[in-house]
Amino acid sequence: MNSKLPDSAPQSPIIPVQLRLDDKFRFRCHKGIACFNKCCENIDIMLTPYDIVRLKHRLGVTSREFIDLYTVDFQMDGHGTPGLKLRAKENSTACINLTPEGCGVYEDRPAACRYYALGLVSMRKKDAPRDEDSYFIVREEHCLGHLEPVVQTVCGYRKEQGVDLYDEINHEWRQIILKKRSSGPTVGRPSERSFELFFLASYDPDGFREFVASPGFGEVFDLDPSFKQGLMADEVQLLRFGFRLLRQVLFGEKSIPLKPGAAQMRIARYQQRMAQLSTGRAEDLADAQDKIYESLGD
Ligand code: SF4
Ligand code: SF4
Repeated sequence: MNSKLPDSAPQSPIIPVQLRLDDKFRFRCHKGIACFNKCCENIDIMLTPYDIVRLKHRLGVTSREFIDLYTVDFQMDGHGTPGLKLRAKENSTACINLTPEGCGVYEDRPAACRYYALGLVSMRKKDAPRDEDSYFIVREEHCLGHLEPVVQTVCGYRKEQGVDLYDEINHEWRQIILKKRSSGPTVGRPSERSFELFFLASYDPDGFREFVASPGFGEVFDLDPSFKQGLMADEVQLLRFGFRLLRQVLFGEKSIPLKPGAAQMRIARYQQRMAQLSTGRAEDLADAQDKIYESLGD
């Protein structure tokens, strides 16, 4: 979904005019249009957590299988925050979901596909409590939808494309990414472990469910049993819980209660493991030293 512009248009695929929800723009996409599916032949689509929930159900696979078969990974920032993009077909730039009849997952297509030909920018002004969204038009040479005689508001287009629900569910996740970016060195480089948790909570809901159900998680976090049951049954609730856990781990914003003594128990277990490790190392060293005597002979 990226290309050059016609000569009459400015020399950038993005028209740098900020639109608000009530602003109007001219655009219509429909099956009969001459460029039908052109936008899916050269893709660069970043996936959000809710995209993955919808697509894995649509395709009848687990989230792990979806990641392996339908995505490629990339780094979202200089710290290496993991991101996923939709995969293209083998030896092609066309979307893996593109069929001769059109999008093979249309009802569950990702948020980025729903937004097109709009783009979204989220920014937070200094000291503002929330970020502000604005929109811009993406104009690509192949896309004839801009010539169609249909004018609508940004708000109306978002509703028609069903993107409101995606944005509502992904909102907290986008906030985490924005906060991580804007806090920079004050938060410091996240550990490998926190990246693993970010990946699990963001992109692998089946793996995250197993993690939350595991005895180790139950030893540390104090979850009400009926709340936990709800998480096991509802993937959107589970996503939202994952975002809370990420805030707790990445920014120290404690909203999930810990069991009393959980931290001490983990430290004790860690120390026990370290002691076992050093005993093992001492034994290895003794073995190695014994071998030296062996090589000296009688
Ligand atoms: S998911 Fe569907 S709409 Fe989105 S790029 Fe692929 S084929 Fe096109
Ligand atoms: S009008 Fe634009 S968005 Fe619609 S099919 Fe054509 S290229 Fe794609």
